[in-house]
Amino acid sequence: MTAFAIPAPAQPSVAIAGSDRRFPVRRIFCVGRNYAAHARELGNDERDPPFFFTKPADAVADSGSTIPYPPLTKNLHHEIELVVAIGKAGFRLTSEAALSHIWGYGVGVDLTRRDLQEVAKKAARPWDWSKAFDRSAPCGPVVPAEETGHPASGRIWLAVNGTVKQDGDLAELIWPVADIVAICSEAVELRPGDMIFTGTPAGVGPLAAGDTVTGGVDGIGSIEIAIGAPR
Ligand code: MN
Repeated sequence: MTAFAIPAPAQPSVAIAGSDRRFPVRRIFCVGRNYAAHARELGNDERDPPFFFTKPADAVADSGSTIPYPPLTKNLHHEIELVVAIGKAGFRLTSEAALSHIWGYGVGVDLTRRDLQEVAKKAARPWDWSKAFDRSAPCGPVVPAEETGHPASGRIWLAVNGTVKQDGDLAELIWPVADIVAICSEAVELRPGDMIFTGTPAGVGPLAAGDTVTGGVDGIGSIEIAIGAPR
């Protein structure tokens, strides 16, 4: 057994619906724009090919968590997303093969420091500081694909303090799940525990300390988080 000089970090993980077992998280990939209406609201051409950014595996947080309002921002945004959980390694997958590499699905929120992202875009700098901060990837319980099948449609929504802010449908995905997994696997070998946040529908907006955020994808599951006071 390897002897470490400091205690080895805990394995990040997310809950599995209806199980005491948890899904171990290896990496988190996120698709930048994947719903036409959201791409338009941010001023982009909806026909662009997909692009990816990443978050640390330990950015995950369970449904039910209170997430402190993060530092360095005055414009924290919510982005509700279908999350793909990879269960089997795959490299240069075809879209036809990709679905068999998916272990399950969850509902996540891609928390975003939008003001830092605007600065990064203008300066052609990386998005890390706007996207990859602590607890920036809350994710509700993952449900096995063998129970849900692979969703091609279904309502995806998010509410802040009970008021619906985002309300879309998976059928509006510019690049469907199978294509996203296949395209991601052209850049890296996907491995078990990798997760892919598949993009958000229109209606992104600000969050404040004290807000309660609820969201879901029909047929998949739901998530609820609270935004707490800054640390
Ligand atoms: Mn996103």
